[in-house]
Amino acid sequence: MRPALAIRPVPPAVRVTDLSLAYGGARGGVAALDRVSLEVAPGAHLAIIGPSGSGKSSLLAVLAGRQAPSGGRVELAGRVARIHQDLRLVPRATALANVLHGSLGRLSFARSLCFPPAERARAEALLVRVGLGHRLHAPVRTLSGGEAQRVAIARALMQDPDILLADEPVASLDPENAAAIMALLDDLRRERGLTLVSVLHDLALAEAHADRIVEMRHGRIVSEQARGGAPRLLRAGAAQPACAAPTLPPRLPGWGLWLAAGLAIALSAGVLSGAGARTEHAAAEALAFLARLVPGPAALSEIPWGGLLLSLVETLRMAVLGTALAVAVALPLAALAARNVAPRLIGLPVRAALNLWRAIPSIVWALLFVAAVGLGTMAGVYALVAYSVGYLTKFFYEAFEGAETLAAGALAEIGASGPQRFVHAVWPVALPALAAAILFMVEYNVRAASVLGIVGAGGIGHELKLAVDWSNWDVVGAILALLAVAVIAVDSVSAAVRRRIA
Ligand code: ADP
Ligand code: MG
Repeated sequence: MRPALAIRPVPPAVRVTDLSLAYGGARGGVAALDRVSLEVAPGAHLAIIGPSGSGKSSLLAVLAGRQAPSGGRVELAGRVARIHQDLRLVPRATALANVLHGSLGRLSFARSLCFPPAERARAEALLVRVGLGHRLHAPVRTLSGGEAQRVAIARALMQDPDILLADEPVASLDPENAAAIMALLDDLRRERGLTLVSVLHDLALAEAHADRIVEMRHGRIVSEQARGGAPRLLRAGAAQPACAAPTLPPRLPGWGLWLAAGLAIALSAGVLSGAGARTEHAAAEALAFLARLVPGPAALSEIPWGGLLLSLVETLRMAVLGTALAVAVALPLAALAARNVAPRLIGLPVRAALNLWRAIPSIVWALLFVAAVGLGTMAGVYALVAYSVGYLTKFFYEAFEGAETLAAGALAEIGASGPQRFVHAVWPVALPALAAAILFMVEYNVRAASVLGIVGAGGIGHELKLAVDWSNWDVVGAILALLAVAVIAVDSVSAAVRRRIA
């Protein structure tokens, strides 16, 4: 009996059959993919070309498993990693950190807080391989376009893919860098036996690097070209009418805005005219009073400067301690309230409670705490904590929500859990906004702390109250001058810090 010669064809790495995708539902939506079928052999490079809007990125999104198709089938032999056209790196994190993000899908949350040495070594080796060994610790936002592209490639390789999807990997690069990146992708493909599916807009680049080129138009593959061959027309896709964009009527400024402006003007006019008659007399009285606040040369030496300075320091300590404690309470609360961090079911009641909480002024908190813990600085500190928590939590959750960037989505695609995305993509992006909110709160609390003393919560406000009660106007003037100096000093220090973190 003759032995049967079994020549099994190698199964394709990518097989797409009759793939359709309609955004916004099959009826009336945009048909981004229309019965697309293709196969890519293992280790081959398929380039997809076509005009903008022809469905290239949509096809990659379906292949990456991030977009459910409306119809058809996708078969993939192995793990997929995608390089986005806009890279979706975390700009404030270093090149090394961004490449390490590629390992999040296989690490537990605890292990990803401090990446294992083996993963670090791999990430470093990958960065060296893509030619960035000298920029390991550079924040990605300081890298050039070509360098950032290399980081994105290294992050994708860190995922150990069998199939690499590269969406316009050289679109934003100069010709020299574009050729270098394409050569790098090709070399990496051969070294690692990767299957590469790239989207390119330059036919010459595609011809130079790809084994096969398909051209898409209106969601269809309209021609196909093997390396060195001539393009083969598959369907007359180009004959389809282009989708015209709907024309919208020009937008007029809302009448609500005009109404609100009119109301505001009418209200202010009313207030001003009522006050008009008494203004002149009151101004003269105010000037005379202000003059009493300026101590003469003799009185200057009688003012207890030492005691006042100590009280001022106490006030500053109240403000800093109150803000610090409030930050510690507000951070976890904000994480619970932020829509992109915790479930809405938890966030909504937290936000509602905070809205009520913020309605209570700091002076009322001070009165309550003076009643609860007695006169003195601690009542002031507690009052500032209670008051600041309401505002800081709001600032913080807004910062977290504002930091939900496409990079966080890219980490989800890599397989990062919610907490991992928070730590690696949301937190570093939110950091400048968090710092700005804390600085603002310190500035605010220095002012608030000096007022709280008036109701018995210690510090310079207490001295101010005594001086006013005793009509000691020289001392009142001195206290106000000290406060002004302190507030200006705090503001300029925080402005300097703000400039550094921006
Ligand atoms: P290409 O990458 O070839 O430029 P895309 O795949 O991005 O094209 O888009 C194909 C079509 O699908 C376009 O008409 C685009 O406007 C539409 N489209 C893409 N993404 C979305 C989306 N998330 N929602 C609705 N329409 C989309
Ligand atoms: Mg695209």
